[in-house]
Amino acid sequence: MDIVQYTCPNCGADLKFDPLTQDFYCEYCDSRFNDKYFDDKTSKINEMHLKKDKLNSKRNNLDKSNTQKNKKISTKKEAKAYKCPNCGAMVETTNTTGSTFCKYCNSPIILSDRLDDENEEPDKIIPFKITEKEAIQKCRNLFDNEKFVIHNNEIESIFQNMKVRGVYFPHWYVDVEADLVIHATSQEENMYEEGNIRYTHVKKYRHYREGKFIVKSISELAMKTKYKSWINSIYPYLDNGIEDFSTTYLSGFETETKDIDKSELDKKTKAITSNEVKKKASSYIRGFKNVQIQLLNESITNKRWSYRLLPVWILEYQYKDKEYVCVVNGQTGKTAGSIPAFKKRRKKSIAFFLIITVIFSLIIFFIGRAILL
Ligand SMILES: [Zn+2]
Ligand SMILES: [Zn+2]
Repeated sequence: MDIVQYTCPNCGADLKFDPLTQDFYCEYCDSRFNDKYFDDKTSKINEMHLKKDKLNSKRNNLDKSNTQKNKKISTKKEAKAYKCPNCGAMVETTNTTGSTFCKYCNSPIILSDRLDDENEEPDKIIPFKITEKEAIQKCRNLFDNEKFVIHNNEIESIFQNMKVRGVYFPHWYVDVEADLVIHATSQEENMYEEGNIRYTHVKKYRHYREGKFIVKSISELAMKTKYKSWINSIYPYLDNGIEDFSTTYLSGFETETKDIDKSELDKKTKAITSNEVKKKASSYIRGFKNVQIQLLNESITNKRWSYRLLPVWILEYQYKDKEYVCVVNGQTGKTAGSIPAFKKRRKKSIAFFLIITVIFSLIIFFIGRAILL
């Protein structure tokens, strides 16, 4: 089992990726390093891996001899427990965990075998740009409209107990190329008069178009997660922050890896392509009126897939025994979330306003009568 940790050369503490400066920092001695440091040190890190591997395989051999029966358990992609290289505690993971933290010593743990195998390695990554602090502020903004029914100190306690996680979620991206054939008709009418006779001059056209059609960046979550509908509402991610995948970006964040095969996206890909074709078809027959598409045929000829990790802040909190979630796009800051519905108190305040209004009306009514008398 291969666990990667990036450590500070000055003090040996863990290095984490910093979204604000897009480099790597050590919390303990305040040192900073850029990607170059990792490029230069790759050989060293590999050496470290080898050492760790040797240690691990020794341990594994020991484990194996102790429990011969469990031999076949360690196949790929299943929930497993790893030993934290820092403190030795057991770190529980699910079958999709790519990186996480040790619960006991909080050091970042990257499970590189789930990320660097030929079939498992992501092609691209969008590193976090939004910091944890900014994400919390974005979520806090959702409460702004609710201030008149919730006390500030209640909001404070919500945010004090909030669980905040920066998570890379696996996504499939696909560019689709299709051959397109369009048959269409159009019609133009001109009316004119000569003497007492009105003529309608009708021109009818047949159109035929043939060509290549490209739909770019159809995307979909590549794992099953309860956060799916929330994540759907913080798209899109922009291509201009995209980087080639490197495990260094994961240090200090959680990572989920794919458990949905791209073949499961075939239907969606087809549907989106044919939708796009329908939307654009008439624009290929320009300069004609009353265009009617008679036949539209697209056949997908090529698909280019890429597997990407996209950053999401997940903020979870409880209010009166109910669970709520707020998600923030880790690249753009787009935010979606659930806010407790403070219905009871709102009803109370409406009732309160009604009573006040009635009392005032009565007072005005009686004053009016008093003046008349
Ligand atoms: Zn350090
Ligand atoms: Zn630990």
